[in-house]
Amino acid sequence: MPSYVAAIDQGTTSTRTMIFDHSGRVVASDQKEHEQIFPQAGWVEHNAEEIWENVRAVTAGALAKADLRAGDIAAVGVTNQRETSLVWDRATGKPVYNAIVWQDTRTARIVNELGALGGGQERYRAKTGLPLATYFSGPKVKWILDNVDGVRARAEAGDLLFGNMDTWVLWNMTGGPDGGLHITDPSNASRTMLMDLDTLSWDENIAAEMGIPLSMLPEIRSSSEKYGTVRERGVLGGVPIAGILGDQQAATFGQACLSVGEAKNTYGTGNFVLLNTGTEKVMSQNGLLTTVCYKIGDNATVYALEGSIAVTGSLVQWLRDNLQIIGSAPEVEELARGVEDNGGAYFVPAFSGLFAPYWRSDARGVIVGLTRFVNRGHLARAALEATAFQTREVIDAMNADSGVPLKTLKVDGGMVVNDLLMQFQADILGVQVIRPVVAETTALGSAYAAGLAVGFWEGEADIRNNWAQDKVWDPAMDDVHRERQYHNWKKAVTRTFDWIEHD
Ligand code: ADP
Repeated sequence: MPSYVAAIDQGTTSTRTMIFDHSGRVVASDQKEHEQIFPQAGWVEHNAEEIWENVRAVTAGALAKADLRAGDIAAVGVTNQRETSLVWDRATGKPVYNAIVWQDTRTARIVNELGALGGGQERYRAKTGLPLATYFSGPKVKWILDNVDGVRARAEAGDLLFGNMDTWVLWNMTGGPDGGLHITDPSNASRTMLMDLDTLSWDENIAAEMGIPLSMLPEIRSSSEKYGTVRERGVLGGVPIAGILGDQQAATFGQACLSVGEAKNTYGTGNFVLLNTGTEKVMSQNGLLTTVCYKIGDNATVYALEGSIAVTGSLVQWLRDNLQIIGSAPEVEELARGVEDNGGAYFVPAFSGLFAPYWRSDARGVIVGLTRFVNRGHLARAALEATAFQTREVIDAMNADSGVPLKTLKVDGGMVVNDLLMQFQADILGVQVIRPVVAETTALGSAYAAGLAVGFWEGEADIRNNWAQDKVWDPAMDDVHRERQYHNWKKAVTRTFDWIEHD
């Protein structure tokens, strides 16, 4: 048995390949950003061919850094930004349009029209676990079929394929037009709004309502099994591909949240809190999503409740790129530490509308509480606090749905190096916040899925044993202070509503 497992993490802002050893430690990693294409307000696209090039480059890069060859890798797993939707030609491998990214809000009208057929936002909830929102794939595919010249006819003739980024990467890795596997897993499929959560198969009625031919949709396999081998010569040629998980479900797996009631929060471009609900599918009464967490081989499907927050780390990028009040993301902490508190300012970054628990596509961002006193330090602080307040809202919803208050929160992602944010998070939640040694839990979870399928790891006990705590933040804020600030935040959120008026 080779000594390592590789994971390809095709994320929203970058693609990375990481190589892990048996103890779950990172041996090597390589990463490359791709272009964020903003054709107009509310639209976000990626060039899928650039992404595929990057997958190959960083995979070769990671192997070279560790001085390893394909023969040293026992298996490779794929994890990915979810919901981001691509349609391509099965004969040529050419996309018919850029990938439409999960944050993109262009489908607001489609979503309203579907809701108007009856049931409004809840139309597909019972089948899919999701509210009708611009976030999910189905309406994005419909937009491509409706708006790109000639595409609907080609789709109906069976010439086009749909995939999220897992499917695109895997199809290319296994040969592309020359016999590439057109597959996905239930954690990704559960975010298309086209999959039945009970049967883990495509729902023909929903697909028909959205005008999406079933022939375009990938086969749904489990999250952990040997699907095939990498066809490409050079980069990982011959290595079994054995894991597929959406990035947030992968992080949940990598954080060893393997039992009912265990939850993690990933702080990246957005924040995503997932609570493992076991083999029971819990339907949310409080604005959360019900989603597949993972399905390991023939084992029973494990579900999760999810609170998705669209804008957290990307607000820090916005301070850097659009306001230019910081030169790099880590500088936000220094700037925020220059003031004692938020100076009365609250920043609600409803740039893509609001996701959980509100699901308001008519919302847009606000900064409220401004006075002559407020300076850039206060804005930096308000921006960081926004991440913590939004997290509190989804955890409140989770506690209400599950009936069991969360006692500790495992955290990971790019923002968890920010000590000020993590302390404020513990303060505003009133629970312990815990960061593990390996913060790259997304790639790790995907490596676990692949490694389990080929016997590199034996079972979930290995995953638990590999998990180790790095740092803990204990809540230190008094209740009165906490609740006053949270009350102000809630009031600020209401000021974002009803901004966009759909015609
Ligand atoms: P993703 O996987 O979604 O691309 P990452 O987990 O790599 O994101 O996290 C990157 C995000 O973290 C960026 O949006 C960046 O603004 C933010 N970030 C990075 N370092 C810090 C920091 N020290 N403080 C606050 N935010 C940070």
